[in-house]
Amino acid sequence: MTAQKIGFIGLGNMGAPMAHNLAVAGHDVTGFDTAGTTAEGVKTAKTVLEAVDGADFVITMLPNGAILRSVASDVLQGMKQGATLIDCSTVDVESARDVATQAEAKGVGFVDAPVSGGIGGASGGTLTFMAGGSDTAFAAAAPLFDIMGQKAVHCGVAGAGQAAKICNNMILGVTMIATCEAFALADKLGLDRQKMFDVVSTSSGYSWSMNAYCPAPGVGPQSPADNGYTPGFAAELMLKDLGLSQQAAESADADTPMGAMARALYQTFVEEEGGRGKDFSAMLPRFETRTRRG
Ligand code: NAD
Repeated sequence: MTAQKIGFIGLGNMGAPMAHNLAVAGHDVTGFDTAGTTAEGVKTAKTVLEAVDGADFVITMLPNGAILRSVASDVLQGMKQGATLIDCSTVDVESARDVATQAEAKGVGFVDAPVSGGIGGASGGTLTFMAGGSDTAFAAAAPLFDIMGQKAVHCGVAGAGQAAKICNNMILGVTMIATCEAFALADKLGLDRQKMFDVVSTSSGYSWSMNAYCPAPGVGPQSPADNGYTPGFAAELMLKDLGLSQQAAESADADTPMGAMARALYQTFVEEEGGRGKDFSAMLPRFETRTRRG
């Protein structure tokens, strides 16, 4: 791919290293963030319109759907026809679809492309992108996904990337809670944690939460549990994603009782039990201290 002119909006924990990687790959990247943050190798614009002026691609990496909608309506005023807007934020499916419609009306391609892989993946250029949009828009964005990540799956039309992300994270939240409560039960039954891991990780209870991200310190591969539950993937980000999956389930009239329960547990954990700022696997010490009566 020849050098492209890229506007990058939202240079936070994830956006700054992603923008940096695009600049390192030889693209002409101009960034804008309302907090005044910058990224190494990336030019800084004073306004959002300055950042997107003449851009072939605009990438957004923002906190939520309301902010995305507002930024997108500004950005689309300044983008040229035939350019592509790529939103990598995790937002609700409806916001992604609305922005896609606005982009289409302006003759701009749109891809919703939320990521997994966290801050480490953003820095290392090893993110996974889950993308929704037309074949043309996905094909245009794919070389940039190759720079910022190691895998991009075209999941379907606009919104499909966000749908894949929230379904995946709903499974993750539920299985992490199940894994943590099972460890806490095993403790009370006098079952050694390492033995529990040895059995479950090679039996039908296995999952990514157990095998790759074990919530018990000193057991399984290195994980945030071995580092005092420093995130990793923070409990409040899991709460956000579980909220998005419940919002989607409500609008699609889908019955998701386990997802609803996981969201309620993470909400209590984050808002009332000191879970904010801890990794989402810190559900294990939470369960350790509890009884059936609370
Ligand atoms: P962050 O809060 O560090 O970054 C968001 C940035 O957007 C901030 O710097 C903020 O100042 C900026 N911003 C807010 N409003 C703006 C506006 N109107 N114009 C320009 N900039 C604006 O968040 P993050 O951790 O980088 O996450 C970004 C997105 O990626 C979120 O949607 C999050 O859910 C998702 N995500 C994060 C992780 C993670 O591990 N941090 C993993 C996967 C997905």
